[in-house]
Amino acid sequence: MGGGGGGGRGVWFGVAAGCAAAACVIAAALVSRRVKSHRRWQRAAELVAEFEEGCGTPVGRLKQVVDAMVVEMHAGLASDGGSKLKMLLTYVDSLPHGSEKGIYYALDLGGTNFRVLQVQLGGKGSNILKQKVEKQPIPQELMTSTCEKMFGFIASKLKQFVEEDEESREGTIETRALGFTFSFPVKQSSVSSGVLMKWTKGFSIEDAADRDIVACLQEALTKEGLNMQVAVLVNDTVGTLALGHYHDQDTVAAVIIGTGTNACYVERTDAIIKYQGLLTNSGSMVINMEWGNFWTSHLPRTSYDVELDEDSLNRTDQGFEKMISGMYLGEIARRVLFRIAVESEVFGDVGSKLSQPFALSTPLMATMHEDESADLREVKRIVEQTLQIPDIPLKTRRLVVKVCDIVSRRAARLVAAGIVGILKKIGRDGSGPSTSGRPKGQPMRTVVAVEGGLYEGYSMFRDYVDEAIVEILGDVAQYIFLKTTVDGSGTGAALLAAAHSSNRKSYI
Ligand code: ADP
Ligand code: MG
Repeated sequence: MGGGGGGGRGVWFGVAAGCAAAACVIAAALVSRRVKSHRRWQRAAELVAEFEEGCGTPVGRLKQVVDAMVVEMHAGLASDGGSKLKMLLTYVDSLPHGSEKGIYYALDLGGTNFRVLQVQLGGKGSNILKQKVEKQPIPQELMTSTCEKMFGFIASKLKQFVEEDEESREGTIETRALGFTFSFPVKQSSVSSGVLMKWTKGFSIEDAADRDIVACLQEALTKEGLNMQVAVLVNDTVGTLALGHYHDQDTVAAVIIGTGTNACYVERTDAIIKYQGLLTNSGSMVINMEWGNFWTSHLPRTSYDVELDEDSLNRTDQGFEKMISGMYLGEIARRVLFRIAVESEVFGDVGSKLSQPFALSTPLMATMHEDESADLREVKRIVEQTLQIPDIPLKTRRLVVKVCDIVSRRAARLVAAGIVGILKKIGRDGSGPSTSGRPKGQPMRTVVAVEGGLYEGYSMFRDYVDEAIVEILGDVAQYIFLKTTVDGSGTGAALLAAAHSSNRKSYI
């Protein structure tokens, strides 16, 4: 018994010891897992902190960007090739004022969507009477096809639209003036002609090089048997400025923040040094800045931006655009998240869609950023459905939101700096000499028309832009108004067709 008992005790003891050992192993495993998890988090947090620092836009840096913008604007106006800012002449010297009358059409090509529009203008005091817009995505294969195919497609859509429209109105218009919004850099030789300088935003139609874009369109219209005259060739910024000015004559500039980004503004002709001898009736001309290509060493650039550029179709081009516009913001965030995934494993298996370029679109990034639910369920859903990473914990969701915030905040603050740069160049930032007729130093009411899917659809982005303008300009910011236009890029072209084809022009 005793021995048995002893043996029994021994066995008992052994089991107990075994249990204790197992508990130890489990505890050790837990501790080691916690340590590992802590390390993973530490690395993830480090990467986010590094990224945030790299994207830093304190007001001092923004002011450097403002000044660099002004310097580059001067350089671009001084000579062709004088700056990365092309500062293109548009030959637009009259902007609509609200007294235009008649029916006008417009085409808007230059991004993900293509629009055909018709605008009815009732003359003074009546505003836009009626407007029809038809929007459709551009078939991907056309973006890299031939001029004939691309413009043939556009002309056929326009014809369809005009025919339906005229059927419903039971009458044709004799001379149909068309405004053409073509949002790529064009070297214009008049308000209704110009040669494409380069493609951007994923378009690449080789036989368009060195050809007059209006002639290409006009040819396609004739082939379709459409009796239409292209009255103006503008880009989306100029169209947006025109619509802004139609509604509010204090509008002096326009900015687009959609798939790409660009800006234009009203400049005095005597400041356009590279085109001495240029005379306009108004003494002013709209300048298309092509600001997507702006660059200065003051821009907060990170390794992710460098890599995105290296992998892009247009390396070393459109540096400002690559930090700001809808085509790229989601992709920057994806690159950061992917690096975090690889180096910290907080997303688990890396075999997800995170490794795939452009897997995260900017609208989805915005949705995650603006997720207000306590458990960030939109973030969870998008990460699961789009990036195919199931079930990330709340802590990881917060990290995703943080990355979106950093990307979006930097972009918005750089847009603000760009806008203030324009205002400074034309003396509307409160720093210039006082304007005649108003108390010394009091700034003039100034409106900037802003358009584009990114700006319209992303309210936190808009808030960040406003906030930064106030930070840079202080009290003067109360005289600056950013007004969103809708379909301005197209409608504005129709308004310009009206302004430029009427006998009584209303100069800027
Ligand atoms: P485009 O610039 O191609 O003429 P839009 O002005 O409509 O067209 O802008 C579309 C772009 O805006 C999309 O490519 C997308 O990146 C961005 N965008 C659209 N909606 C949103 C949104 N809700 N939040 C953030 N970005 C958006
Ligand atoms: Mg557009």
